[in-house]
Amino acid sequence: MALIVQKFGGTSVANVGRIEAVADRLLACHERGDQLVVVVSAMSGETNRLIELAHSIQSTPDPREFDVLVSTGEQVTIALLCMALIKRGCAARSYTGAQVRILTDNAYNKARIQEIDGGALLSDLDAGRIVVVAGFQGMDVDGNITTLGRGGSDTTAVALAAALGADECQIFTDVDGVYTTDPRVVNGARRLDRITFEEMLEMASLGSKVLQIRAVEFAGKYNVPLRVLSSFEDGPGTLITREEPDQMEAPTIAGIAFNRDEAKLTIVGVPDTPGVAYQILGPIGEANVEVDVIVQNVGADGTTDFTFTVHRNEMAKAEAILQRIAAELGARQVISDDRICKVSLVGVGMRSHAGVAAKMFKALAESNINIQMITTSEIKISVVIAEKFIELAVRSLHSAFDLDEPVSGDARG
Ligand code: ADP
Ligand code: ASP
Ligand code: MG
Repeated sequence: MALIVQKFGGTSVANVGRIEAVADRLLACHERGDQLVVVVSAMSGETNRLIELAHSIQSTPDPREFDVLVSTGEQVTIALLCMALIKRGCAARSYTGAQVRILTDNAYNKARIQEIDGGALLSDLDAGRIVVVAGFQGMDVDGNITTLGRGGSDTTAVALAAALGADECQIFTDVDGVYTTDPRVVNGARRLDRITFEEMLEMASLGSKVLQIRAVEFAGKYNVPLRVLSSFEDGPGTLITREEPDQMEAPTIAGIAFNRDEAKLTIVGVPDTPGVAYQILGPIGEANVEVDVIVQNVGADGTTDFTFTVHRNEMAKAEAILQRIAAELGARQVISDDRICKVSLVGVGMRSHAGVAAKMFKALAESNINIQMITTSEIKISVVIAEKFIELAVRSLHSAFDLDEPVSGDARG
């Protein structure tokens, strides 16, 4: 008998028909003898609808009331799924985050889980019930409702799996696993049998929204076996695991991530003197604007150009700050561009393979794509390019790195 946490995302519970199908699937697992804790998202589109409602009243909604509102989507699906299970003669009980006592900090809209009391759920499981928990929500120490950020139901599932010591956490979604890149963008994308926590964390952080970043962090930290599967068809899915010694020969690149969330700002002709980077980025940081990629040109005539990226939503705020700094420093100009994207290669194999960057730049050159910025870490290389080239770039890199075809002897399959 295994204890399994299964999470079903928005498209998997998009309407009553799908909820009934999830109930059939759960019943089959339950009849095989597994103990099931189920986490559900809101019906697809529902969280967006609630967010729009909030914005129709307040342009910056009150954070506490925002969480009270957006957490309601999941309360609908837990009740409907339990009804579908009970109709099938299966004992089931729903829980909101607060009812489970999923304790979070009080950072509304992006709360972090601190503690979970699994007691009530374990007694239900022992009594033969299926337990259905609302994803994405918790409560702070004062009993206020909090939410965990977009895609947060993944994190609820992984955190519950860790707290209950589950044998596996299964994330059911609308694709049958983690692919080499978003299968909705590249037709030839290939499903991976396995990927390491480290690679999955980079992929998620660099834009592959198949799993919430925090869910992967949590799974890695508590070593929760995590699998991504389709709720529409049977299959092995993708297992996210620790790096194993026999995987040293794994392919160099696990996958390609991309995002269109960033904008680029350049301050042109600033004095090339010590402290200038701090004079520019200090005020940006003080305004709580997160900076991602940074490039400073080699100075020529005693001045230099300083370029960095921020989230697109914060471009206007950052630009206003830069204009002020430009006046103070006597810089020539401030340029902003929100029609950029970031494309990244991810793979633990990069540690032991030289020449990955050169091969990446060659593939982009052959597609006539100009690279505007480059950043690397041990297991990733990212480039900033014009947004209009995003699909071309991802496709070219996908074939340049032989990701379309299964490599024989590939440990990931
Ligand atoms: P859910 O509502 O079930 O949480 P999401 O929309 O959050 O589903 O995540 C699934 C989506 O993630 C897929 O439909 C796919 O378009 C996207 N995605 C992005 N990158 C990848 C990838 N590398 N592998 C699989 N899916 C990906
Ligand atoms: N319903 C929430 C969202 O759409 C949480 C989730 O689906 O994971 O972001
Ligand atoms: Mg999701």
